[in-house]
Amino acid sequence: MLLRHTTAEPVVERQALTINPAKTCQPIGAMYAALGIHGCMPHSHGSQGCCSYHRSALTRHYKEPVIAGSSSFTEGSSVFGGQANLLEAITNLFNIYDAEVVAVHTTCLSETIGDDITQIVAKAKEEGHVPKGKYVIKASTPSYVGSHVTGYSNMIKGMIEVFAKNTGKRLDQINLIPGFVEPSDMAEIKRMAREMGVKTVLFPDTSSVLNSPQSGKYSMYPKGGVTVAELSTIGNSSATLALGPLGAGPGARLLDTQCKVPCQVLDLPLGLRATDAFVDALRKAAGVVVPESMMDERGQVLDFITDMSQYFYGRTAALSGDPDQLVPLAQFLTDIGIKVKYAVTGTPGKKFDAQMQAICGPEAKIKEGGQADLYQLHQWIKQDKVDLIFGGTYCKYIGRDEDIPVIRFGFPIYDRVGHQYFPILGYRGALRLLEKILTALLDRQDRDAPEEKFELVM
Ligand code: SF4
Repeated sequence: MLLRHTTAEPVVERQALTINPAKTCQPIGAMYAALGIHGCMPHSHGSQGCCSYHRSALTRHYKEPVIAGSSSFTEGSSVFGGQANLLEAITNLFNIYDAEVVAVHTTCLSETIGDDITQIVAKAKEEGHVPKGKYVIKASTPSYVGSHVTGYSNMIKGMIEVFAKNTGKRLDQINLIPGFVEPSDMAEIKRMAREMGVKTVLFPDTSSVLNSPQSGKYSMYPKGGVTVAELSTIGNSSATLALGPLGAGPGARLLDTQCKVPCQVLDLPLGLRATDAFVDALRKAAGVVVPESMMDERGQVLDFITDMSQYFYGRTAALSGDPDQLVPLAQFLTDIGIKVKYAVTGTPGKKFDAQMQAICGPEAKIKEGGQADLYQLHQWIKQDKVDLIFGGTYCKYIGRDEDIPVIRFGFPIYDRVGHQYFPILGYRGALRLLEKILTALLDRQDRDAPEEKFELVM
């Protein structure tokens, strides 16, 4: 009864209070995106406490050591600014830690005191703190606006600002910008593109960085990540597909403006419909034919849904997570017969409510922004229960209190593993999601079955 103070009534419209937020802070997303460049050292311009929290959140989720520098603000830098600390940090990160790229993001503190990192990074270059052939990218990530998705998106824009150049020579390759998804999902997107015979540059790419194999040796910069050489070609690609309007869309549009690379913003390829849309868009952009092997993967998903539809139909769900993931998830659940009754996201975005309402129906309770928190979700569930909860680890308290299975989904997941290695995107990912849903439902059915209805074959 950890959440025993959550009551079913009354549901109060709050303006300024968030209880158990359905998001994390901007720099976490910026740090995650930065780790998707090979040889990149993220750097947190703020206090050590912020940096420790961001690193530990990522380390706990991915079960991998997450590297990052900190400007280590003291009382002095908190009052007079952190320029001197950042200049020294940039020097040290290149000279001692041999970074190829340093990715600086701000924090609440450095934003509040008004540190201008654009000016500081320009000064670092002028004064020779950045060795030749090395790069500093930056993103402004005040955490009192947006969420980890905003920070992720801002750091992608930081990459484009520095690396994207249009030299006038169009290359026969497609840029793929993934939203805030797992390393396993990034690897799956690349695999699907390879299967279709399309040359792509996926950035950021945390596969083989945050799910790298145990080799017996510590490597500060694991072998994965998009390389600087690859990034330097994105301005010449023939098209960009952004997978996720909030996480990837702004970067794709910036690249279009900056280098005239036409872009298309799609949903994350999660579930059958959204994956179909991705495959179709990639097919058209690259001028290829969808191979038979891809159609077989799709057919397996359809077969699973057909065979097991009696277990999905009529079930209900409550969702918590990021808009880019929740919209296609809600569509997928609705398509297989599961009714989404509630959804909350702490990531602000005006379109979310309307999109979700259109998918889930007018009776569904949908909320975004600061007060769309897990407390709100718990109150709704108390008023009228659901069969499944989809969300990060913090949802387990609601699941325990209300005796509802929780399907770990999104970020952060601190109490399970597998998300790093097994995708939920694409057709193969859809199979995994279906398996997770079905297992949760059938485990519950077995647990609750009276002796005479405890079935061997289900
Ligand atoms: S102070 Fe701001 S940047 Fe630092 S951990 Fe808190 S929310 Fe994140």
